[in-house]
Amino acid sequence: MADGNTCRSPWTRFIAACLFLVSAAPLFAVTAIDSFVYSSAAAARKAWQPSPSSPPVMPVPSGRGLVFPCTFDADRERVYWDRAVSLDLTRHGTIILDFACDDPGALRSPTLYFKSGNGWYVARIPMRGTGRRRVAFAKTDFSTEEKPTGWHRIERVRLSAWKADGRNARLTLYDLRADDSRIAVVRNTLSSPSEAERRYGTRVSTRVARLLSDAGIPHGVLTDEEVIHGGLMKSRVAILTHHPHPPAREIESLKLFVRRGGKLIVFYGAEPALAELMGVRLGQYRKADAPGRWSSFAFLKPSFWKVPERVYQESSNIMPASPGRRSTHVIAYWEDSHGRRAEEPAWLASDNGLWMTHVLLDDDAANKRDMLTGLLASLDPAVWTYAAQNALERAGQIDSFRNFGDAHRRLSAAAESAPQKGRVLKLLEQADLEYQRMQASYSEGRHEEVVQGGRAVKEALVEAYARAQRGQPGEFRGVWEHNGTGWFPGDWDRTCRVLADHGINAVFPNMLWGGLAHYPSRYLPQSRTAAYYGDQLAQCVEAARKRGIEVHVWKVCWNVENAPSDFTAQMRKQGRLQVSHDGTSISWLCPSHPDNIALAIGSIREVVTNYAVQGIHLDYIRYPNANYCFCPTCRREFERETGVKVGSWPAEVRGKGKHVAAYRKWRAGKITSFVRLVREQVRALNASVKVSAAVWGAYPATVDSIGQDWGAWLKNNYVDFVCPMNYSTDNARFADLTRSQVALPGAKGRVFPGLGVTAAESQLGGDQVIEQILILRQLGARGFMLFDMSHTLRLDTLPVLPMGLTSE
Ligand SMILES: [Zn+2]
Repeated sequence: MADGNTCRSPWTRFIAACLFLVSAAPLFAVTAIDSFVYSSAAAARKAWQPSPSSPPVMPVPSGRGLVFPCTFDADRERVYWDRAVSLDLTRHGTIILDFACDDPGALRSPTLYFKSGNGWYVARIPMRGTGRRRVAFAKTDFSTEEKPTGWHRIERVRLSAWKADGRNARLTLYDLRADDSRIAVVRNTLSSPSEAERRYGTRVSTRVARLLSDAGIPHGVLTDEEVIHGGLMKSRVAILTHHPHPPAREIESLKLFVRRGGKLIVFYGAEPALAELMGVRLGQYRKADAPGRWSSFAFLKPSFWKVPERVYQESSNIMPASPGRRSTHVIAYWEDSHGRRAEEPAWLASDNGLWMTHVLLDDDAANKRDMLTGLLASLDPAVWTYAAQNALERAGQIDSFRNFGDAHRRLSAAAESAPQKGRVLKLLEQADLEYQRMQASYSEGRHEEVVQGGRAVKEALVEAYARAQRGQPGEFRGVWEHNGTGWFPGDWDRTCRVLADHGINAVFPNMLWGGLAHYPSRYLPQSRTAAYYGDQLAQCVEAARKRGIEVHVWKVCWNVENAPSDFTAQMRKQGRLQVSHDGTSISWLCPSHPDNIALAIGSIREVVTNYAVQGIHLDYIRYPNANYCFCPTCRREFERETGVKVGSWPAEVRGKGKHVAAYRKWRAGKITSFVRLVREQVRALNASVKVSAAVWGAYPATVDSIGQDWGAWLKNNYVDFVCPMNYSTDNARFADLTRSQVALPGAKGRVFPGLGVTAAESQLGGDQVIEQILILRQLGARGFMLFDMSHTLRLDTLPVLPMGLTSE
């Protein structure tokens, strides 16, 4: 394999090619729609006309920005404002809105409209947190109402919001502009044979687009069809986010794109023609035989690419590739969970762009954002301009502090009563210095330094914030662990040491699934992980005991998606899988089937009997959704237990059917009676072993939707505690959920809310974790759970906790 050290001459040529690109890249083309700078309140009100019942807009006192007061009352359900314009936005792929909202939870459906002729283009404004942020809408994000004439004739802009629960909020707009889709994120709509894979591809492209938005990089989102029909004409870089097999017609379009100077970033390519275009040679698809084979990737020349040295990502399979031409280089290699370099390249660079041998997953989001910024900027340096502006605007937006000044002021005040006052003030001083440097760099056009400065400011502020906190003795602090191996497969001792060092006192290892166990089980197939690394539960229990950490075995109750295929096939044959209204079965066991109950109970009993665990933690203790289960066993049991005779199955027990209420009640009762059975069985074996459950947050809606009546479990003492998965980046929502949960009968001291640190629904920085823990403490919760044991948790989240929050 060639890298920069061993293959000097092509590497130098490659750098020269990059430098050539830098000088040749033209600037972005922008159409300002409104910059929200008005000479007077009257001028602003004249431009933005309120609807007859809406209050008028108000300029921000500094003169930059316009406040749209979302003031609701009994008669006012909606507010909106219109501005007349005359714009042709056809050549722009992206609409960028720069705004802040002081209470996102107070607004329902905040929406941006563009009127054209007799119709509208409509996009919902995504709200996350109270800080100022910039959202880039692709044209494809807009739906239409009635029949708009076209983007070439935009006559009016409208901002609108509906009342949520009666609270008022202020929306402040700072900028609205249209931009070229210089960066195009391509969604897999034709590049996989299976529908499920294309759906997965959509999730991946959404993730990539979100990382770009976080970095302030404007981008458009295109489909494969749009690429085929010339959609990349205005783009400089196209990101193929999950594209195993683009069709031949698309590859022809991509060739044209590259020929006229466009660059590609390809994830997970498996099509020889695309590999040929990118100068890489494809290998054979590889699947990890156990977790920990590909846990991170490290760049060989991080300072050249302006990327983090190492990015964490636990990939279970890759599509290997190696240099296929002299001008192609490996720029990053995979590493295993112990940080040893694997033989497989993670990233390659050629003169047509970049190639990654897997897709981007959710973990380590901050490093991935920085990595994408650096890599994209190497292909289109104008990216730095946007990233710098974004970094400057967001500096100080840690926690719910609005800007640097706000953060500085509030943290200075907090320092006064903090045990580590001197240290906090020193960190604030350091942040201040870095912030001034950032501003100087910005005014001198050194944009890359601004972005680096933004990271330094954030680091100092987060530490100041962390050190301004206090501990809470006796708090329950748990971590969910997904693989059964801990962070370092084969070394549970090291994992438990890290947990203990950071004040974590409970671990919830996922040792037990519906159809798989990470220990030798009499009931369930043993996993490859256990075959490879040995009895994971025994190793975990032993390591945790030495550190005084509780072990609550995480049991996935019905889901058998990761079970060996012969196990699932056998279950299907025996009629033990859940069945939807149309008769198709899924890889979930039916909770009505006596054999399924016996299987789950058997596996739980053997854990409690054979291992010194402190708890059994039930997960997936529900149905997938309202469309399950309608299998023959469910029908028979429902009729037998309730005495109801169903004429037409399942029509009468679903939708608007006459027995739907009775069925839903019975269905939730099935889950509840299983939880009760677990409680009885565990108590009979060992009265000190706790029973808990991971539950959906929005109770009691969960009773009808997924059959999960966890309020009743608490009230009747079928569980010792519950961990609602309150995964959200919106602190108001997190607080609302937690508040209603701790107020349930019997819930006092028994609700440990789950924080989505690295969840699909949310990724939280260290500062956000601190704030959500403060919220739950204030609401009376006596513990919390962190999801999940990722390297982000280890490297970003846990280090800030013992600085203050878990110091006692
Ligand atoms: Zn069933």
